[in-house]
Amino acid sequence: MTDCLFCKIVKGEIPSESIYEDEQVLAFNDINAQAPTHILIIPKKHITTLNDLEDEDVEVAGRLMKVAANLAKEKGFADAGYRVVMNCNQDGGQAVYHIHLHLLAGRRLALPLG
Ligand code: AMP
Ligand code: ZN
Repeated sequence: MTDCLFCKIVKGEIPSESIYEDEQVLAFNDINAQAPTHILIIPKKHITTLNDLEDEDVEVAGRLMKVAANLAKEKGFADAGYRVVMNCNQDGGQAVYHIHLHLLAGRRLALPLG
């Protein structure tokens, strides 16, 4: 996808504060942090929304979760707790149409959701 913000971050055409990278996944700081830690974890492959997830994408989707848990342990907030969120389409509040898992931590997060 040539006109996708997060594809441009994957290609290094737009700078980001990279936190983690492997063959399939990239994690970087959210530019508008909503918590002391706010990391976005994305597949390098362009997937527009959660609705567009194909069977072949199930592995990378699970990998996003595993990277979140690994980062939580590495950064020391796994036990205190954290939240992972993926927004889908307009009612879900999705602004960037390349799927991403928000990893939020560092304060007591508000409930109820929504
Ligand atoms: P969502 O509303 O779930 O689509 O979330 C999009 C997120 O991307 C928001 O939290 C934005 O702050 C974040 N964002 C937008 N542009 C950038 C960027 N260039 N680098 C890092 N995060 C960004
Ligand atoms: Zn993309």
